[in-house]
Amino acid sequence: LTTADLIEEHRICVCVRKRPLNKKELSMKDLDVITIPSKDVVMVHEPKQKVDLTRYLENQTFRFDYAFDDSTTNEMVYRFTARPLVETIFERGMATCFAYGQTGSGKTHTMGGDFSGKNQDCSKGIYALAARDVFLMLKKPNYKKLDLQVYATFFEIYSGKVFDLLNRKAKLRVLEDGKQQVQVVGLQEKDVKCTEEVLKLIEVGNSCRTSGQTSANAHSSRSHAVFQIILRRKGKMHGKFSLIDLAGNERGADTSSADRQTRLEGAEINKSLLALKECIRALGRNKPHTPFRASKLTQVLRDSFIGENSRTCMVSLLPLLISYVHVFLSLPDYITFNYLL
Ligand code: ADP
Ligand code: MG
Repeated sequence: LTTADLIEEHRICVCVRKRPLNKKELSMKDLDVITIPSKDVVMVHEPKQKVDLTRYLENQTFRFDYAFDDSTTNEMVYRFTARPLVETIFERGMATCFAYGQTGSGKTHTMGGDFSGKNQDCSKGIYALAARDVFLMLKKPNYKKLDLQVYATFFEIYSGKVFDLLNRKAKLRVLEDGKQQVQVVGLQEKDVKCTEEVLKLIEVGNSCRTSGQTSANAHSSRSHAVFQIILRRKGKMHGKFSLIDLAGNERGADTSSADRQTRLEGAEINKSLLALKECIRALGRNKPHTPFRASKLTQVLRDSFIGENSRTCMVSLLPLLISYVHVFLSLPDYITFNYLL
């Protein structure tokens, strides 16, 4: 199978989202380089200069499963991305939904909900919306008779180490047994009975994620956050949904100015994002080898990359302004490099 076949089979869905420009960005008079002319097309406007120094825009279009413009709500994004994957875990599958993009592009807003103002509201994030539908689905006669239990975990991967966000950031070990099963030892699996309980856990985890940090975004931009909804039947795993707010994908580019620590973090992030792409590429190719050991992120997600019934959805948050695009690459290259698998 090629990547195109996988997309055809709906095993991978690749979407992009453009958030609204904020006040500061609107006042910058910087060039907004992206427009979304229809529901699956992104148009990229790249500023160029002729030899005689006259400036012009070079426009190129890219097609995705869905392209969400800046008027799209989380609920809408959810409906076309993670929502179809809720069925997957009821049908004994592994579902994974990633938010990918630069720091500030809207990953946490999309996955976790709104944490920007005083009134933190996680109920409109994809974590919560997925949980809501899991509980709705449980009531359907077909699934009700299975007597499934719902559990949630929430952890963070920072510099290749795993921390439990539902247990005061306890550092956890990752073990692989003889049967290649990967276990995060001691990870708290909280049993949850309703959406409200899940919302509480998201709040706990989120405040744990940012506690003790001078800047919430500085830290979270360098770590991957993984929220999981697990269905169990008589204690045995039935299905698992992993929802992931990835580390910012810009970190590798700004190595020249950064200190040693930041450069090491950047290298680690690049490594894990690259490993992720490799694993997604290997998905369903019937390759005996998925290179999941290349990073902690892909290692803990191993289950999701193998098996017949795995489905993945990428929500890529687009860069908005030309000055946000860190370059050695031209803008269209940057988009294809980052967003097309
Ligand atoms: P990231 O997690 O990618 O670093 P955030 O999710 O923290 O980015 O978003 C950066 C800022 O933009 C936040 O203040 C957030 O509330 C705001 N924001 C992001 N996406 C949207 C959106 N679709 N609509 C309105 N505001 C948004
Ligand atoms: Mg974030």
